[in-house]
Amino acid sequence: GATIGLLGGGQLGRMIALAGTNLGYRFVTLEPTLDSPCGQVAEQIQADYSDVQAARELAARADVITYEFENVNAEVASLLEELSYVPQGSQLLYTTQHRLREKRAIEAAGVKVAPYAEIRSEQELQEAVDKLGIPSVLKTVMGGYDGKGQWVIRQASEIPEAYATLSQAGTELVLEQFISFEKEISVIAARSPRGEVITFPPAENMHIDNILHASIVPARISNAVLEEAQQLAGRIAVSMGAVGLLAVELFLTAEGELYVNELAPRPHNSGHYTMEACSTSQFEQHVRAICNLPLSPVKLLTPVVMVNVLGEHLDAVVGHLVEGNWMQDGQDINVIPKVHLYGKEEPSAKRKMGHINLLCDQVEDGLEFIQKTNIWRHQQG
Ligand code: ATP
Ligand code: MG
Ligand code: MG
Repeated sequence: GATIGLLGGGQLGRMIALAGTNLGYRFVTLEPTLDSPCGQVAEQIQADYSDVQAARELAARADVITYEFENVNAEVASLLEELSYVPQGSQLLYTTQHRLREKRAIEAAGVKVAPYAEIRSEQELQEAVDKLGIPSVLKTVMGGYDGKGQWVIRQASEIPEAYATLSQAGTELVLEQFISFEKEISVIAARSPRGEVITFPPAENMHIDNILHASIVPARISNAVLEEAQQLAGRIAVSMGAVGLLAVELFLTAEGELYVNELAPRPHNSGHYTMEACSTSQFEQHVRAICNLPLSPVKLLTPVVMVNVLGEHLDAVVGHLVEGNWMQDGQDINVIPKVHLYGKEEPSAKRKMGHINLLCDQVEDGLEFIQKTNIWRHQQG
C-alpha cells in the first residue's frame, strides 16, 4: 500500500493515522517530540518541522503528504510540494495561516465575517476602535491558538497596552468587532480533488478559558440555520479549491445570523464526535479526500456530547472510566462513554490529553453526565 507522510505528530496526526491504517495505508510522521502521539502508531522522523533535510526525507518516504497544523513553514511547504505530492497544496496553508488572508477568502465565497480592520500602528488601532466600537477583539494575524495572541478591548484606555503587548509577536494585527453571539457552532467540510464535497453535521461548541470544553451534536439550532451552516461551509471549501478537510468555526447571533470566526484546513477538535457518532469519521474522510478516494456518505448515528480531557481531568477519567470503577456517579444516566486517550506522557493542567464521546439518546443526558460525574472540574487558569 501507499505511504502517507504527516507533518506533525500530535493527536490529530495520530487519529488520521489510525483511520488511514484501516484503509490500508502506512504512515510516517515528521515530529520533534520523542514518542509522540502519532509516533506511537506510525513511523517517526524525529526532527524539527522546519528542518529542510528532514522534510526531504519525509518527501522521499511518502507517496502523499498532509499536515495536522496550519502553521507550516512556507519554505518547507513549497519544498514538499516540489519533491512529493501535497494534494491540499500550499495555497490553502498560505491563506488559512493568516487571519486577514483568510477573511478575504471567506468574503470572496460570499460568506460573512465580523467587521474587521487591518492594524499596523497604535494610531490605526485608535481609529479602528472608533469605527468598530467597544468591545472589540485585537488578534495577531498569525500563530494564535486557544485564545493566545488576543486581547478583548473593553475600554479605550486599554489601547496602548493591548497594542504594545500583541505587537511584540512581530506579526500584523487585526481588530474584529465583538459579535455577541448566542452560540458558537462549527461545520467540517471535506472536498476531494475530483470535486466531491461532503459536510458533517454542525457541532454546538462550549469553551472554558478559550479552550474547547464540549461539542454537542445535534446542535440545538433551527433546521434553517443547520442547513445554512452546512451550505456555507461547502461554499467556502469550493471557492477556495480546498482539498481534504476544512473546519469552519461560526458565531450564531440571536437574530439567526452566521459569521465565520476562523477556518482550519485539517481535522478539528469539534469534529472528534464523528469517531463513533457518524458513519464516517472526519479522520477517515480526510484520508479519503487527500487520496482522491470516493468520499463516504455521512450519517449521524446517534446524539453525542464530546467532552475534552485536559491534564487536570486525566486522573479522574482514568479512575472513573478506564479502570472500571466508573458510573458511581452518573450510573443512572443513559450514556455510553467512548474514551480516546492520546498517549501523551506529560500532562499539564490545560493540555489536551484525550476526549470522550458520550453517546446518548438525547444530548441533555450527555450534559447531565458531565455535571454529575464531577470529572470536569476546572482549575483557575
Ligand atoms: P483556536 O484554539 O480555536 O484556534 P484561536 O486562538 O485561534 O482559537 P479564536 O477562535 O479566534 O482563537 O477565538 C477564540 C474564542 O474567542 C472564540 O471561540 C470566541 O469564543 C471568542 N472570540 C474570538 N473572536 C471573537 C469576536 N470577534 N467576537 C466575539 N467573540 C470572539
Ligand atoms: Mg485558531
Ligand atoms: Mg477558534
